[in-house]
Amino acid sequence: MDDRPVYLVGCGSDSHIIKRATAARAGEKPLLLAGTIVSTEHTAVSHSDGDAVYHALTNALLLAIGERDIGYHFPDTDARYAGANSESFVREALSLAEGAGYRVSNATVMLNASEPKISEHIPEMKKNLAHLLGVGQERIGIGASRGEGTWTGTGALGIYAIAQVSLVRR
Ligand code: MG
Repeated sequence: MDDRPVYLVGCGSDSHIIKRATAARAGEKPLLLAGTIVSTEHTAVSHSDGDAVYHALTNALLLAIGERDIGYHFPDTDARYAGANSESFVREALSLAEGAGYRVSNATVMLNASEPKISEHIPEMKKNLAHLLGVGQERIGIGASRGEGTWTGTGALGIYAIAQVSLVRR
């Protein structure tokens, strides 16, 4: 008899400082979220490609199965991950979950950033996540808030992502 739980739930987060790109920094990496370029006029300060959605989701997947976090598995002090495509972190976390006998049931991501505007990019981000996680787009929820009046709405630029994922036993 299989006494593993039918469902597991994981929560993860990630944040990055964002800088406005200047002409002098032209060619700097664009701001990526869920593998989608959401701005070429902003860039995330990061060791890898700085995709906060993929990082938060990687944490959620790892924690759901009782693994340690993204910094433990893919340390930002490791030269191997300099400029890394963060999709690979999600894929690796996903294969650990699959190895534990689980597949994704649904995932949600909430973003907070005062700029750039994210909402117009949500459809493409949903498509990317659905494809990556092997579920229909109706199983992916992505929201974005400008955080009016809060710390994310004033002062230093940054982005904050929270992800939740539910896994079902295979
Ligand atoms: Mg990160």
